[in-house]
Amino acid sequence: MSRVRERVGTWIGWAFFADLASALGLTFGYMFSRSVTMQYPDKEKWLPYSRYRGHHFLKRDQEGEIKCVACELCARICPCDCIEVIPYEDEKGNRRPAKFEIDMARCLFCGLCEDACPADAIALGQQYEFSSFSSRDLVIGRDNLLGKPGKATTGGGVVAARLNTEQDVLVETSEPQGYNWWRNIRQM
Ligand code: SF4
Ligand code: SF4
Repeated sequence: MSRVRERVGTWIGWAFFADLASALGLTFGYMFSRSVTMQYPDKEKWLPYSRYRGHHFLKRDQEGEIKCVACELCARICPCDCIEVIPYEDEKGNRRPAKFEIDMARCLFCGLCEDACPADAIALGQQYEFSSFSSRDLVIGRDNLLGKPGKATTGGGVVAARLNTEQDVLVETSEPQGYNWWRNIRQM
């Protein structure tokens, strides 16, 4: 019995040692791998991948009218209850949003509002720099969603690029799919 215990004890000891050696190997590997510090935002800003979901925007149709028909489906499906829509009827009898607000402080950027919209009127773009010291500033209204942050014209599409802020925003488009965050990290 004691011999069995001895063998089990030895086996556990070796397993522990192997685990420790593997962890130390990983630690030393990272100590000598290249730095991945990003010089954000003073020297560079990397735009996220195209599938990134950031600041919302509302779209216009070809006549320049807001596409939203104020059906409130987005507000109903939102798991955070952070969309408020108040409809009105314009002079042509079309239903439009008199008030359309999103509380970005509560939003979890799930994209359900975009998926639910029957009019293809709302989308999540790639703007991620909209932090604020006041949560009241994060309640974004209809006009700002239409005009800002400049995605309404592009449809939210952002070309993968590196912004060189030293040269007053130089756009380099050599990256096909946004920044590969993992390329500087040692692959196991
Ligand atoms: S992204 Fe999700 S949480 Fe944010 S407003 Fe849309 S449905 Fe709500
Ligand atoms: S954004 Fe779309 S889902 Fe939301 S109220 Fe407007 S039309 Fe309806």
